[in-house]
Amino acid sequence: MRLKRIYRDAAHRRGVEMGPYPLETLASGSEFALINRLQAEPKPVVPATTELAATASWYADLFITCAKQDPAPVGEGSTDPVVRAREVKGAAYYLDAAHVGICEVPDFAWFGLPKKNADFAIVMLVEYGCNVESENLASEWLQGSEHHIARMRAHEIGVSILGHLRALGYPADIHVEANTSLCLDTLSVQAGVAIAHEGCSVSPFIGKRFAMVAVTTSYVLATSTPLNPDAGIPGLSYWLGINGAVSGREHKRRAKRASHMSHYPMEQVTRVDNPTTYIFSDEVPRVPKRAEFFQRARLGDLGAKAQREVQRFAFKHPLTDGMMYPLRAMVPHQYGEAASAVDPELTDPEVNTRAIKSLSYHLGADLTGICEIPDYAWYSHGPRGEPIEIKHKYAIVMLIDQGYDTMEGASGDDWISGCQSMRGYIRGAEIAGTMAEFLRNKGYDSRAQTNADSHVLHIPLVLLAGLGELSRIGELVLNPFVGPRFKSVVLTTNLPLVPDKPIDFGLQEFCGHCLKCARECPVNAIPFGDKILFNGYEIWKPDVERCARYRVTNPKGSACGRCMKTCPLNKVVTADGAWLHRIGTWLGVNARWLKKFLVPIAVSLDDTLGYGKRNPVKHWWQDLEIIDGVARKPKATNERDINVNADTTGARSPVGYYHAQNNPPPNATEPVAANHKAAIERAALIETVDVALARRANGEARPEHYKPTPLIPLTDNTHA
Ligand code: SF4
Ligand code: SF4
Repeated sequence: MRLKRIYRDAAHRRGVEMGPYPLETLASGSEFALINRLQAEPKPVVPATTELAATASWYADLFITCAKQDPAPVGEGSTDPVVRAREVKGAAYYLDAAHVGICEVPDFAWFGLPKKNADFAIVMLVEYGCNVESENLASEWLQGSEHHIARMRAHEIGVSILGHLRALGYPADIHVEANTSLCLDTLSVQAGVAIAHEGCSVSPFIGKRFAMVAVTTSYVLATSTPLNPDAGIPGLSYWLGINGAVSGREHKRRAKRASHMSHYPMEQVTRVDNPTTYIFSDEVPRVPKRAEFFQRARLGDLGAKAQREVQRFAFKHPLTDGMMYPLRAMVPHQYGEAASAVDPELTDPEVNTRAIKSLSYHLGADLTGICEIPDYAWYSHGPRGEPIEIKHKYAIVMLIDQGYDTMEGASGDDWISGCQSMRGYIRGAEIAGTMAEFLRNKGYDSRAQTNADSHVLHIPLVLLAGLGELSRIGELVLNPFVGPRFKSVVLTTNLPLVPDKPIDFGLQEFCGHCLKCARECPVNAIPFGDKILFNGYEIWKPDVERCARYRVTNPKGSACGRCMKTCPLNKVVTADGAWLHRIGTWLGVNARWLKKFLVPIAVSLDDTLGYGKRNPVKHWWQDLEIIDGVARKPKATNERDINVNADTTGARSPVGYYHAQNNPPPNATEPVAANHKAAIERAALIETVDVALARRANGEARPEHYKPTPLIPLTDNTHA
């Protein structure tokens, strides 16, 4: 216990609902509330005078169109205003607001007559993205666009929170800058997230570098206290991050890094010519979307229950229900016509690469890499069997951190786990969609490839773009700094770019000795044994049917990400992370020769210190499940921690294999049952790495089972 207390970081004890800035350390009191509105009239609209500002404004308006759904019937959520406020603030911080406060809406805050069902306001501030150096082309793009981009993100968060309240059964309205009947500046002061200064609101931490949105509602919430306008920022405690918030020194570290580099020192990681796991690119078959197991579940291949549940499995929680509308609204806009003329400023690949990476980070990506797209990374056919055309040369691959704090509070397969994926997907779709539209306006054909609609497989692209190595989790590339805790989004384009190289940070050694994800997987979908050759990839091949079936039908939660949650490399390694993690990561990246000795120690220490258990301090959400349109208390919740005594032989869980040859025809519209027993028997066909290498050395062809299932001929296609 003492050891735990010594190394535990302050962030471990900070609730998510408190946010990344320590507002609670500032002097505050009800006596600092306003008695008059700060502004006589609504602020004028800031015109979008740049291409990027226009694109961001377009997306911001698109999100507002998602605020039209009626409230559901009132559900079984808590009636305690404190519990409710904790969830609402936690959700907005989870979605990356910089400050969130709640106030009662005073009559004087209205520009006209007060509206009904608007007793409380949730006020959310979104900070501008990183600054870009003047010599970087992106600084030209971003000049005059920063506020519009922050506003776009504010709308995304606002509309998600609004959807959450309506899913709980309460009316809510969104109020956006310059288009509102409420004075947002006044509300931000009342809600304790800003102070009044010359008729405007200013944040003690981020000044005026923010965009704002408010959601009003009749949902009764505990309110925040206004700040003392003369308090100032506490010095040393903020600088050191004593309160567990993001520290001043971490903010400074991030600000000092070049804008085209991520927060994480990827430049310290060894670059290699080829990934650390074999890819026999001449053997890898192109696969159809129809072979994906979620698609198979949709078409009934996994049975009636999975077919029914796949429609809702990720949207069972009221917050995800709220996020579903903006997420779906973006899909039709992932692709469009490019301008007929190419911008002559964008012909130098090095200049473009630097600028496009800076833009991605400004928009909110956590890690960005670039690669050329091999043919095999394109799906062969779309969901209805339509051929997919290979259109673009480059992939800009971006990772969105799923958020350590919330994952720390969760079991990985409870009611928030679907939301963790959606958070990554919504942010990724917004970033890639904005960039794709921007590049098309510059004359370069580009497409956002999101989880909802992608023509490319993300996993090989994350690997080739140098953002990680293949891990034991199997179909997951793991990054040295955020571990497995991310969702990817890809932008494919013909913009001239310079690709990154793959990386080697010794993960093969680490996963070779660590079995934690396999041990903790609720359905034994992750192998305990060695890597094998599968469809041309050297991989720890998971049982994808078992995993997909569990994620879709999980009865005590929404989806699953337990393997990510429990992985020892899922840690915070910034200046605010626990010193043990920072040292471990530094050694892992910079002193690889020590891995042989350190990995077994790190793996066992991870269990000893209790990593992978839930931290109740971080449990900000209510466990609720939407059943027939109403938020109900679920019958049960997965409340697991770690199981250090579990069987790790793998004897009870042989892996089922679905080779290219065993996929359903790309255009099959009727169920093609996935036969798990037969999939397990197909282990007999599997080649070890040595056997595959020997076969290739002898000049023998790829195995028959690598050959993709053909289309059902149209004349015979009674299914199509
Ligand atoms: Fe297992 Fe869940 Fe990970 Fe799938 S997502 S491999 S079911 S832990
Ligand atoms: Fe690798 Fe261990 Fe993480 Fe699994 S839990 S991905 S074996 S490091």
